[in-house]
Amino acid sequence: MLDWQPISQLKIAIDGPSGSGKGTIAKRLGEELGLPVLDTGLLYRFVGWRASREHVLLSDEPAVIAALPGLMSDMQWCVDGIHYEGQLCTSELRSEEVGAMASQVASLPAVRSALLDVQRNVASQGAIMDGRDIGTVVLPDAQAKFFLTASVRERARRRWAQLSNKDKMDVRDKDSMAQVQFDLEQRDKRDAERSCAPLLAADDALVVDSTVLNVDQVVDRLLAILHRRQLIRPT
Ligand code: C5P
Repeated sequence: MLDWQPISQLKIAIDGPSGSGKGTIAKRLGEELGLPVLDTGLLYRFVGWRASREHVLLSDEPAVIAALPGLMSDMQWCVDGIHYEGQLCTSELRSEEVGAMASQVASLPAVRSALLDVQRNVASQGAIMDGRDIGTVVLPDAQAKFFLTASVRERARRRWAQLSNKDKMDVRDKDSMAQVQFDLEQRDKRDAERSCAPLLAADDALVVDSTVLNVDQVVDRLLAILHRRQLIRPT
């Protein structure tokens, strides 16, 4: 039995830069509210990954567009992640290398518009969706919009811990964390500076800085806001 009951067809948009905790917070909120959680970054990761495997130059917009229908066939996007040719391939898509590929194809307007309906259709009955442009472009009608952020250092530390799956650092690890921070800054810069659907907080989004907050604190804060706005009620 869940502690909270969301209003019917509640859509929650969670945007923010890499490592801001969007995925973790979206998943936790989904568990609290019994809503499906959709990670839109996976779609861009999938397109970048497939295009690269098919030797399509990621900066060549006409070539990516021409290849897109073929790249997307046999792909299914759902709450579990991405299935390709019947196999779950989410873990392969999570690397920083694929993140950089995603960011490249995500700057192409035709790719973004091709993915728009896919995203809107899955959210139509209510969902929590995380990404970069959910509150601004994909679900401008979402009843709740959050923009999560944290200092670049903290975001790099989280991403590094996620990638290396350990908490203690030695000297070599510090170097690798600097590399993770560099890659993350490059990706954020590209995402924020692109002309089409850049990384941006919607005017009506609530910005939450989680630099010094843990996951429970962020989740509690978001639940309190949703409750105050009468979008969820205790069961
Ligand atoms: O969130 P994640 O790190 O998986 O996203 C990978 C990349 O996909 C981002 O750096 C961004 O370029 C792109 N993206 C996007 N719009 C979204 C989600 C992801 O442009 N809604």
